[in-house]
Amino acid sequence: MSELQNKVQELFEKNEMDLFIGYEKGIRKPRPIFVSKAKEAENLIFDENCSGNLAVYLTRKDLVGGKKAGISASYYALKSIAQLFDENQLKEENLCVLGISEDGTVKLFGSVEEIKQYLTETPPPVKPAEDELVRKIDAMTSDERWQFWADELSKCFKCYACRAACPMCYCTKCIVEVNRPQWIQPWATTISNMEWQINRVMHLAGRCSDCGACGAACPLGIPIHILTHKMAESVKENFGESDGKGNVLSTFKPDDKENFIH
Ligand code: SF4
Ligand code: SF4
Repeated sequence: MSELQNKVQELFEKNEMDLFIGYEKGIRKPRPIFVSKAKEAENLIFDENCSGNLAVYLTRKDLVGGKKAGISASYYALKSIAQLFDENQLKEENLCVLGISEDGTVKLFGSVEEIKQYLTETPPPVKPAEDELVRKIDAMTSDERWQFWADELSKCFKCYACRAACPMCYCTKCIVEVNRPQWIQPWATTISNMEWQINRVMHLAGRCSDCGACGAACPLGIPIHILTHKMAESVKENFGESDGKGNVLSTFKPDDKENFIH
């Protein structure tokens, strides 16, 4: 049994958890598993291919409502969990977080403060392919960049898999489904696809963990996670690190540079 399997089994045996969200072996790649008994812990795995963000399930009331849920969390899932706490979407007493570092070490977090401390002390995992694409896009002129995204987003057929994969997209009614008034055309055209992604990225400003799950979920391989990555960079550059008291679109500081504050 692995360290993760042992730990989860022990937590079930001590009745400290009702449900554990982790990964099991899938046909092509690992897939989520929802463990509800100590014995099922033997199916759990965690390796470099477990690249989704399982925190997406923590706001699913049909799955975790009223239960004490455990989760195996990568660095990025931990970031999402910390953000969900800041947005009052999770309660400490209902959650049991097992953080898994890149070398496979399992750490049981006792509080959200411990998670935040860990995130402060731990550098994010390296993502060479993403870094390379960001460098390529950054080197473009603004016209070339516009054309790049117009070409990419013209492929989008509005399946919303990117939204479903994101832990921070937890609204019960998304702006794309509001039709009185109709903010965004529901059919797929380049312009309405751009409107959809601009809205998605703006709503994630200062909230995105940079996990990349949205881009990985896109069946057409559109690198939309680069948009949220760039937004996260801009937010950090312009507003500094989050202080855990709200996000950039819903808070202000008296010394913000925009004149409308004064
Ligand atoms: S927007 Fe994409 S990269 Fe950011 S938290 Fe959501 S799924 Fe992860
Ligand atoms: S997952 Fe891809 S195709 Fe589906 S809505 Fe998102 S960007 Fe469009």
